[in-house]
Amino acid sequence: MPKPRLPKVAVIGGSIAGLSTGIALRCLGCEVQIYEQSPTPLRGRGGGLVVQYEMLDWMASHDIATLATLSLPGVERQFLDRDGRVIQRFPDSTPFTSWDAVFQQLREAFPEACYHHGYECVRLAAAGGRPVAEFASGERAEADLIIGADGLGSVIRGYLFPDVHPAYAGYVAWRGVFPESLAPAEVVETLARRFTMFQARDFHLLSYLIPGEHGELEAGSRRLNWVWYWNTDEERELPDLLLDTDGRAHRSSVPAGKVQQRHVATMRQRAEEHLPAVLAQLVHSTPEPFIQVIYDLQTPAMSKDSVAILGDSACVVRPHTAAGTSKASGDAVSLAQHLQAADFDLSAALSRWQTERLAVAKRLIHSRLRSIRRPFALADRTTRSCKEAYPSWLATSTQLGTRQMTPNHALQLTGSIRHASCSPADPPRRSRAVFRP
Ligand SMILES: Cc1cc2nc3c(=O)[nH]c(=O)nc-3n(C[C@H](O)[C@H](O)[C@H](O)COP(=O)(O)OP(=O)(O)OC[C@H]3O[C@@H](n4cnc5c(N)ncnc54)[C@H](O)[C@@H]3O)c2cc1C
Repeated sequence: MPKPRLPKVAVIGGSIAGLSTGIALRCLGCEVQIYEQSPTPLRGRGGGLVVQYEMLDWMASHDIATLATLSLPGVERQFLDRDGRVIQRFPDSTPFTSWDAVFQQLREAFPEACYHHGYECVRLAAAGGRPVAEFASGERAEADLIIGADGLGSVIRGYLFPDVHPAYAGYVAWRGVFPESLAPAEVVETLARRFTMFQARDFHLLSYLIPGEHGELEAGSRRLNWVWYWNTDEERELPDLLLDTDGRAHRSSVPAGKVQQRHVATMRQRAEEHLPAVLAQLVHSTPEPFIQVIYDLQTPAMSKDSVAILGDSACVVRPHTAAGTSKASGDAVSLAQHLQAADFDLSAALSRWQTERLAVAKRLIHSRLRSIRRPFALADRTTRSCKEAYPSWLATSTQLGTRQMTPNHALQLTGSIRHASCSPADPPRRSRAVFRP
């Protein structure tokens, strides 16, 4: 039987979803080019991450990364009260990693020559029945399949579904990531190897240690990481919060070093007033806190003709699920599997793929939204004792438990990243120097 013709693929966006897609489709032998708008290498995008085993399994089975090279293991989850006392603790081996670490490992598994920086896609067009991505530079990329992995503000989603827009969830995440050496020793001691949570009426804060900037895992070289969710009024508070030190208005985040000093001062003051001392110290020790806005988004479909969207561009799940990255890589792996199963019949494969992945997204959104009401105030829960409220909500939100790594056969692809490449001259980069096992 003649071999099916493999589609030529252009991926717009070179972050977690884009790289996962590039790697998964290359496993099948497809030629994949990734176009990323950022002119410089992506760094420090998201701080700490909890990554689900679904993604870790896939990374391990394709020799992209292992738990040991990617993460710091936790031993327990602890809930503090206002006086800093531990009101509950239970064993929890959640692996803690960072956006940088995950990104770096994926990046090294994708060939340099097929990853293009400084390519901002501004619109899609069609030529001879094939989709064409047009870039701000005036260049164009024609492909059999164009995949939008361009995140929350996706241009590709705008092309497919112009009426679908992200909806503000009612709260923002203040975040901090910095070297453990900058914090008092007692803060590091309290937080190390633990998933620490504190919750009050209008907010909740969580913290864990993550690998160093270059993946360092040993004590002394790790980073402290915290996320503090705050209810924030969309009209009264949000616009000014998102205005950076240069007067530029942001939509989804204000990067480290760009948050207006008066907002940082207010946040530190709140830390003093509301947090247990150890967490207030953590917040105070953070040189440059940053902000991410929480949005909800779900598209009615994930493809049309020869264009598809995945990861955050198709559906955003709340961060409390700790599932955004694994959903993105799951979208990518599933797409590759459906293409393979349909002998690269794009129309059949995309239709089956989106049915499966829309159901996954819906499940993630709805199972979590039942317990995370908008806005974020958990007043009904906090009127009960904290001891009751914490486990019932948080223990089911970022739930990894104590599962051990075992291969997930549902995620296996027949190819291996070792054997597939854009062309024989473009092998994946496999430098492991920065990650010490
Ligand atoms: C506070 C917070 C905490 C979170 N915690 C976790 C967690 O613990 N675990 C977890 O799994 N997930 C977590 N998430 C979610 C996770 O970060 C995202 O789901 C994931 O990073 C999405 O990846 P993506 O590649 O789809 O999108 P993005 O990372 O947004 O990447 C999109 C890429 O496309 C590029 N791009 C955009 N437009 C264009 C264009 N026009 N042309 C070319 N390139 C373009 C961008 O520059 C970017 O590189 C959290 C999110 C938040 C906000």
